[in-house]
Amino acid sequence: MRRAGLIGGMSWESTRTYYELINREVTRRLGGHHSADLLLASVDFAPIEAWQRAANWSAAGQHLAEAAVRLEGAGADFLALCTNTMHKVASTIEAAVAIPLVHIAAPTIVACRRSRHRRVGLLGTRFTMEDDFYRARLERADLDVLVPDANDRATVHRIIYDELCQGSVEPASVAALEAVVGRLSAQGAQAVVLGCTELGMLGCQTAVPLLDTTVLHAAAVVDEMLA
Ligand code: GLU
Repeated sequence: MRRAGLIGGMSWESTRTYYELINREVTRRLGGHHSADLLLASVDFAPIEAWQRAANWSAAGQHLAEAAVRLEGAGADFLALCTNTMHKVASTIEAAVAIPLVHIAAPTIVACRRSRHRRVGLLGTRFTMEDDFYRARLERADLDVLVPDANDRATVHRIIYDELCQGSVEPASVAALEAVVGRLSAQGAQAVVLGCTELGMLGCQTAVPLLDTTVLHAAAVVDEMLA
């Protein structure tokens, strides 16, 4: 088994889901008492969140690159960054180490191709929905990407930071997210990418399929461990 190095804590609410999904999948694939051989660098989210708000991406990138170097030094064979948003600084992390990074968008693209979804909605933080680093990657893979209108983007962003990252799942927010998904589907989205690792916590029930990046990324990490 190759050793995974996870950079997590953004937020820890979703990192614990990664830990559970990765271990369950390793046990399912290998059987018996097998579990995941992994290292976790779990950062303090407060400075990261402040750097995001201040658009100080170079400080955030530097901080995560240092975590990556620690994981490489401790024996990780590859890295996974357990947040969509911070893939904005993926190239800074990759430049700091010799081991590869399993990008969170890669398994999402594979899932869209497999299910023949060409037009997808994208939900996440405002950085993920509005900046180019994530959307452009999906578009380069020949996907049409729809994001919600400004009002809905603000709602989704607020639910992520004010509720989910703090462990709170509000019924009103489940309904709000389901309504946002419904509007994307009415605009032609064949599936909606939950492009934030906490959004799956809401357990939304929607007519259109939801592609949960936490679930897809965790499975991709296991693929890499057992490759
Ligand atoms: N975990 C989130 C994501 O997947 C948001 C928190 C963060 O900004 O890292 O984008």
